[in-house]
Amino acid sequence: MRPQTFGEVTIHRVLELEGPFMLPSDVFPNATPQALEPDMHWLLNHSICPNTGKLILPVQSYVVQTPDHTILIDTCVGCGKTSALPDWNDRDDDTWLRNLAAAGFTPQDIDFVFCTHLHADHTGWNTRLLDGRWVPTFPNATYILAKSEVAKAEADQSNVFRENVQPILEAGQAQLVETDFALNDMITLIPTPGHTVGHVCVQIQSGGQTAIMIGDVIHSPIQLAHPDWSMVYDDDMDLAAATRIKLFDGLVDTDTLVLTAHLPTPSAGRLTGHTDRPYDFAYVDKE
Ligand SMILES: [Zn+2]
Repeated sequence: MRPQTFGEVTIHRVLELEGPFMLPSDVFPNATPQALEPDMHWLLNHSICPNTGKLILPVQSYVVQTPDHTILIDTCVGCGKTSALPDWNDRDDDTWLRNLAAAGFTPQDIDFVFCTHLHADHTGWNTRLLDGRWVPTFPNATYILAKSEVAKAEADQSNVFRENVQPILEAGQAQLVETDFALNDMITLIPTPGHTVGHVCVQIQSGGQTAIMIGDVIHSPIQLAHPDWSMVYDDDMDLAAATRIKLFDGLVDTDTLVLTAHLPTPSAGRLTGHTDRPYDFAYVDKE
C-alpha cells in the first residue's frame, strides 16, 4: 500500500519478504482441494500461486507516524535468527532495513515497538547481532509487550524468547502491559486471543477515522470465505475462529482501514460483505 494519511497520522507499510509459503492444506487442515475448488477462481494468482499451488504470504511491519511519536508495529523475521522454517532460519537479507529507510525512518527514529504477538515473523528485528550479542535494533524505543505473551514465551524458553525478547527485557527497554493497554487516545490495544494467548490488534484513531493492524487474526484471503478455518499454528483453533468472526463482524462494511500481517500485497483495505461468501476485502491501491 501507499502511505495512508488520516487525521494527524500517516501509516507506512514496510515489507520484508513475500512469496509462495506453504500449501493451503498444510496451513489450514480444512483446506482440501475439494473444499477450495469453489473459491479457486478468485484465489488464484493473487492469493494462491498458480505455479506452486502455495499460499502467497508476505511478512511485513507498519510504521505509524503521529505528531508525537514514531511507532513500529511488528518486526518481521530479522537476520541471523533460529527457525525451523528454512526460509526464516539464519537470514542475512537486510531488505527490511532498507525498506524502513526508503519509508523515511532510521532505527533511531522509532519511539515505540508494538508486537501483536511473540512469534518469529513478528519479533525478528526486535534485536540484531552486535559483536556476538543480541541487542535492541531500536535503541531509543520502548517495546510494548503483552505480559501474557512474555510469560508464555519465557515458560517455553523458545528461540523467539531467547533471541528476540530476553535481550529487550535485559536492556530495560520493555514495558509489559495488559492486552487492553492504551498508549494514549490515539493508540490502543484490542485483545484478540486464539492465535496466541495474548495476541492483540493495534487500533489507531485520529480525526474521526480508525485503522487497525490485525496481526495474525487472518493469514489468507481463504478465511474470508471460511472464517471458521483456523490454522495449524493457532494455539487455540476454536478461540482463534471465534475471535476472528467477532472482530470481522465489528469491522465489516465500516470505514476502518484494516492493516494485515499476511494478506498479499497491498495487504491493507476495508472488510466488506459479499454475495458468495461471508466477507470480502477491498484492497487499497497498490504502491
Ligand atoms: Zn505471522
